[in-house]
Amino acid sequence: MIYLDNAATTPMDSEVLETMIEYMKTEYGNPSSKYYPQALRAQEALKHAREQVAELLDCDQEYLLFTSGSTESNNFIIKGVAEKFSKKGKHIITSKIEHKSVLNTCKHLEKSGYEVTYVGNDELGHVNIEEIEAAIKEETILVSIMWGNNEIGTLNDIEKISELCRKKEVLFHTDATQVVGKINVNLKKIPVDFLSMSAHKIYGPKGIGIAYIGPDDLGLRMKLPSLLDGGDQEYKMRAGTHAMHNIVGFGKACEVAERDMDLYVLQILKLENKFKNELLKARPDITFNGDQDNKIPGLLSINIPGINNELFCKQVSNEIAISTGSACSISEGSYVLSNLNKPSSNNTIRFYLTFASEINDIIKTLLQALSTLK
Ligand code: PMP
Repeated sequence: MIYLDNAATTPMDSEVLETMIEYMKTEYGNPSSKYYPQALRAQEALKHAREQVAELLDCDQEYLLFTSGSTESNNFIIKGVAEKFSKKGKHIITSKIEHKSVLNTCKHLEKSGYEVTYVGNDELGHVNIEEIEAAIKEETILVSIMWGNNEIGTLNDIEKISELCRKKEVLFHTDATQVVGKINVNLKKIPVDFLSMSAHKIYGPKGIGIAYIGPDDLGLRMKLPSLLDGGDQEYKMRAGTHAMHNIVGFGKACEVAERDMDLYVLQILKLENKFKNELLKARPDITFNGDQDNKIPGLLSINIPGINNELFCKQVSNEIAISTGSACSISEGSYVLSNLNKPSSNNTIRFYLTFASEINDIIKTLLQALSTLK
């Protein structure tokens, strides 16, 4: 079985798993307790993991809050900003091709009287920055635009959007779930106010992520209202006992990503070129969605004329794990592809290659399956 659905989730790195086991066996202390060594060691481990994440994102560790993952971080940040700044205004800007955890959060807010502008994108999937600029008004409290798209891989010009928001004095959030560990995310160089990510997209465990809550005008971490009422954890903004096994695993995954990313990306790009060339040699009618010159390395959204993607994914499922698009909106057609003006999304397949991908085997299996279909 060749696993190529790494945009949905990645397997866990063996170094990560090893780090976690100790925290499920003997190091089960609660870092919010304080009287005995096990709890003190948990506090140290918590601090260390936060530093490891900060290193990867190039930011100060004090701005990072552990959450259960990007869905929670997106909800926490967008709803938190909406509540905190509702007196200033009730207008939010996002794009039509964000992940469901952003879109449905915005829909939720619309029901409570907020106005949301959903800006469009070009045919390669770049969100229209001019539309964002035109939409910003006095009442705008937040712009939320994803860094890289989970279905087609296209990268947005986050530096430019961040500059625009700064110039217009509007807070800016980016969902960076699919890009961390694959491109250079440097928050000192590209300052954003808020960022979301999940560990399980970078070979870490599921159920843990980060909400980056940047500094305000005074250089202090912004205080957002909590999603959950409860204890004092995470600067009183995210209640609930720390899932230490997940947190140390997440930290380790960030350390590995920081250490290995350049080599990993280089290898993936080599494989990707070979994969595309061989596929095109055999099937010149195949086309690729998204910006092929500026996208998430390894993520490929491919149109294969003449196939039904669902049947095809099932047909090859014993040999290759691939999907038709986002696992979070699998029950409906792809709104991302519809917004690229590609309404016939039922011949699109999403691949996410990794450096361990057996490229020759993948190509052979795919071409074999395609010829059988014919
Ligand atoms: N945003 C994007 C871009 C994603 O790809 C995902 C995961 N598919 C999420 C948010 C949600 O992440 P999680 O399921 O880990 O909460």
